[in-house]
Amino acid sequence: MELLDESIVPEHARDVKVEAREFAREHIEPNAQECFQAGEYPEEILEAGQEADLVAQDIPEEWGGRGLDLAQLLAITEEFYRADAGIALTLQLASFGCEITYEHGTDEQCEEYIRPVAAGEQRSGLAVSEPETGSDLSGMQTRAEKDGDEYVINGEKYWIGNGVEADWVTLYARTGDDEDNPYGNHSMFIVPTDTDGYEAEHIPEKMAMRASKQAHIEFDDCRIPASNLIGEEGDGFMLLADFFNHGRVAVAGHGLGIAAAAIEEAWEFTHDREEFGRTISDFQAVQHGLADMLLEFESARTLTWRAREKVANEGNAGYWAAMAKTKATETAVDVSEQSMQFHGGRSILDERRIARVFRDARIPVIYEGANEIQRNLIYGQAP
Ligand SMILES: Cc1cc2nc3c(=O)[nH]c(=O)nc-3n(C[C@H](O)[C@H](O)[C@H](O)COP(=O)(O)OP(=O)(O)OC[C@H]3O[C@@H](n4cnc5c(N)ncnc54)[C@H](O)[C@@H]3O)c2cc1C
Repeated sequence: MELLDESIVPEHARDVKVEAREFAREHIEPNAQECFQAGEYPEEILEAGQEADLVAQDIPEEWGGRGLDLAQLLAITEEFYRADAGIALTLQLASFGCEITYEHGTDEQCEEYIRPVAAGEQRSGLAVSEPETGSDLSGMQTRAEKDGDEYVINGEKYWIGNGVEADWVTLYARTGDDEDNPYGNHSMFIVPTDTDGYEAEHIPEKMAMRASKQAHIEFDDCRIPASNLIGEEGDGFMLLADFFNHGRVAVAGHGLGIAAAAIEEAWEFTHDREEFGRTISDFQAVQHGLADMLLEFESARTLTWRAREKVANEGNAGYWAAMAKTKATETAVDVSEQSMQFHGGRSILDERRIARVFRDARIPVIYEGANEIQRNLIYGQAP
């Protein structure tokens, strides 16, 4: 069963899709279950991905990357997440947030921080969410105070991918308190993780995407050069909103990859399992269930690739990105739930791919903005 067929993928993105599939077959699929159970950061697979030029390669050629566009990234994403969501998240988070610097930072910042990530010598992270809130971007409290030619950072961040493993993070911090302009109170900074006053530890073990690692970061009088501000003071909210438009199309790709895996498993199991003198796929109720899964999947995939085009061409990007993210990630939840049911008791065996997929599907409906927030955006930006 070939669900991630290439006909919907623009021609210029098909070669890299093939590269991603071959990489996934060789490096991700065979290690997925072991990495999940061990809950370990897949260091060697990440290195292989860097060597294969499939990690951090959205970075422009000017700074050492391949300059992959959103279509190429989405094509890679679908393939990686189909193979395993936890490993895929680690591969894709290795350059998380870099786009904000290469789009809005200075040449000096790109030379110092972006080039090493493109070369696979460093990895980054994006630190936005806090222990007290992940959804309320204008309510984030971690603060950066200007002090001469430095900023002094105090506060906490939670859920930060690579907060421990990264060489630097892009930090979203409060620099103002203007109640009349809540969207102008935050700024973005580059914070090297070896700076005094930066302390990170892994959050407790997760039940899903266990091959990726997130951190709780504490900033205690952490001083960085003022030149590490990205763009202008007060730009943070807008920079992040723009970044999320691309990110949410990619997260739709997370949902599609996970959904494809769930459907593959359901298809294979139901055509193999014999009861009542026939395979269970001979029951019309099962056939309808499979048909519904395919309907949902194709609807989500069509919407996602349409959103990709809209976002790339600046066509009401926030609306389309939120639509794609919501539909594709909820499709992943729905089809993996149905796939579990078709697996009967075996669905809950730890060794089964469907048990892993079912758990992983719970995450993309939350990260990059919970789907309730996406629905706010869809309603608020409806054409
Ligand atoms: C595996 C994983 C990786 C992550 N990686 C990162 C990362 O690298 N960097 C980073 O900064 N963050 C990261 N996050 C954090 C993620 O973005 C947040 O979890 C997400 O934004 C939701 O925030 P929260 O968990 O604080 O939930 P809350 O904001 O507390 O929301 C809880 C629930 O309340 C409801 N809700 C909240 N607000 C509204 C509203 N306005 N309207 C209706 N309902 C609402 C929703 O049901 C929501 O799910 C990650 C999270 C996970 C799980």
